[in-house]
Amino acid sequence: MHLFDRQSGLNVLLDEVSLPEHAWSAAPRQVSIAVTNTCDLACPFCYAPKHRAFLEVSHLLSWMDELDHAGTFGVGFGGGEPTLYRHLPEVCAYAAENTGLAVTLTTHGHRWNADLASRLCGAVNLVRVSVDGVGSTYERLRGRSFALLRTSLDAIASDFQWGMNSVINQDTVRELDAIAALAAEHGASELLLLPEQPTVRTPGAGQETLRALETWVLSYTGSVPLATSGDAVLGVPIANALPGEVGLRSYAHIDASATARTTSYSSSRVRIGEDGVMAALKQLTQMGTA
Ligand code: SF4
Repeated sequence: MHLFDRQSGLNVLLDEVSLPEHAWSAAPRQVSIAVTNTCDLACPFCYAPKHRAFLEVSHLLSWMDELDHAGTFGVGFGGGEPTLYRHLPEVCAYAAENTGLAVTLTTHGHRWNADLASRLCGAVNLVRVSVDGVGSTYERLRGRSFALLRTSLDAIASDFQWGMNSVINQDTVRELDAIAALAAEHGASELLLLPEQPTVRTPGAGQETLRALETWVLSYTGSVPLATSGDAVLGVPIANALPGEVGLRSYAHIDASATARTTSYSSSRVRIGEDGVMAALKQLTQMGTA
């Protein structure tokens, strides 16, 4: 039995309690949702599809109802850049008021303003800000001012619990100390390290980068807890509290073209039709087990 509090993010696993299989949640524990492909940045390592697509709001609300009833703990909105999706505040408010889902949001942070913050306040449980490198490295990779990023981090941290996401490649791996210091200075609750994935424009994190990352992680003594994605191979021991919860029981991704996927990189996908998101996830599971 797994209990979860969306306000604090606290998870409690009662592994002495064994539930019959029919009582298990049918839905993935966490679902990431790309609400739009649109973005105003052009990061070289971006893997978001570049064709124009965004989710129909009525579909999104009904999928959240379905996922909530089927046992999903949380949804994470991303893109593209989710703050460019005009229905974002309405969708987050719906989740907060009508479901038990925790809501997270991954943003580059450069469109943050007081109006957006007031509309998201109370409806978003964690804001994730993508920060790759510091100073001139950040500015070269993201094409935006590092000083303005710091202003946005202050604004976000004053209203929301937030975490920092960092893509680790041969440039940013050298700045891990400064990245961790930045996260601590602005009060991040987590530093998520994401080894760069290969795309058509970048080779992805190489062996040397991964070795340097592993060495850094093993010697890290900072105050901000580290995390990584489930499919990252850091070469260091990673706590896995739920070893029996694998594949689509754990996580699913919905892209901005309304298809369900096992991950945002996966090529297996199922279009979410009139019969809803759970039917699409069931079909995706059957494809994986066929
Ligand atoms: S901010 Fe995110 S979605 Fe936009 S280009 Fe960069 S990596 Fe891609």
